[in-house]
Amino acid sequence: MTSVDHRLLRRRTLRALERGLLAREEVCDASHELARAADTFGAALSSACPVCHQPSLREVAFAFGRGLPPQGQVVGGLLQEEQLTSVEGVRLFRVEVCLECRWNFLLEERGQAAPS
Ligand SMILES: [Zn+2]
Repeated sequence: MTSVDHRLLRRRTLRALERGLLAREEVCDASHELARAADTFGAALSSACPVCHQPSLREVAFAFGRGLPPQGQVVGGLLQEEQLTSVEGVRLFRVEVCLECRWNFLLEERGQAAPS
């Protein structure tokens, strides 16, 4: 199992936004599908959105890999994370999405390393 944590990049992105190096539209660009998946399957986060400061932050995970749709399979309901991450070649992407301003950021990716 390998894991890549993107929290440092998230902090840098938010700092760039504060300094005006990034426009809000560049980071608050969650697609309709992503926002809907986050609304339906996502878990509410206790922290407020880092951009609009509304309590509208959700965390949702998608799985990519063999046998899964090319656009990814949303994790939830019958498809639980533990089942997916034990399958070779499946990678899991955990994303935070704000339902208010559409801020979205990849928090973490993990899964089995590709066989070398
Ligand atoms: Zn927001």
